Amino acid sequence: MTKAGRFAPSPSGELHVGNLRTAILAWLFARSTGRNFLLRVEDLDRARAGAEAEQLRDLAAIGVTWDGAVVRQTDRGDVYAEAISRLAAADLTYECFCTRREIQEAASAPHAPQGAYPGTCRDLDRAELEFKRSTRPAALRLRSAVTEFAVRDVLHGGFTGVVDDFVLRRNDGVAAYNLAVVVDDAAQGIDQVVRGDDLLPSTPRQAYLASLLGLQVPEYAHVPLVVNSDGVRLAKRDGAVTLGDLALRGQSAAGVRDLLLASVGLPGGTLEQALAAFDPVALPREPWVWPGA
Ligand SMILES: [Zn+2]
Repeated sequence: MTKAGRFAPSPSGELHVGNLRTAILAWLFARSTGRNFLLRVEDLDRARAGAEAEQLRDLAAIGVTWDGAVVRQTDRGDVYAEAISRLAAADLTYECFCTRREIQEAASAPHAPQGAYPGTCRDLDRAELEFKRSTRPAALRLRSAVTEFAVRDVLHGGFTGVVDDFVLRRNDGVAAYNLAVVVDDAAQGIDQVVRGDDLLPSTPRQAYLASLLGLQVPEYAHVPLVVNSDGVRLAKRDGAVTLGDLALRGQSAAGVRDLLLASVGLPGGTLEQALAAFDPVALPREPWVWPGA
């Protein structure tokens, strides 16, 4: 299988300039290393009708090209179920009946790592299990043998982060994000993952899960985000931040593309032209403050 990089947006609305900048960087990383570039729509959650088409249109408008058909996670339930079965067969899963609130309250115990599942349902006996099954549907969690895991990142170097008994299948029966991402990356031959550095903390969980499934851990590059003037991750409420908004203010897609390229130290022009000057080592390591429009 040809090795590939990818961009994997959630179709919750239009992409903003922060998303577009990450997409450009992912494209540059992939193309500069002779990889294919794939698009995957992460629509297990938060899908809004029409958003996927808008996102593909905007990516094309700034010159992001991709190979092959767009993959949608909602089409891949069987593949996720197969991976979960393999983990269950290896006794690496257990049912969890906790509500969000119960987890928050238990996790505030003094020795629990920040945000980690406290293990409430890890060792339920048969009677407890049968009672809980009668009360609410179970999520399925990973029975992790580690509490942290180390990954390597092109921009961050070594990074060690928390691995807890994270959810593999939600209690509505849908595969959880971490499981789907790991299974999809491997199935699509994706061996390079470039995405926003807000996702770095969840990367050790994904790399650990890949290792349990016997899958190759991809090369990671977590790139700095675009922030607003308060230093907070850019969001739709920060004004004109989508190609649609910016077009209304007279800014062309090519102009936005050039602005985003300049923000990572690259000359304007087509992405193919920028490729010649692209050097991952020279990328800014700090967030970029959106100058507004
Ligand atoms: Zn639980």
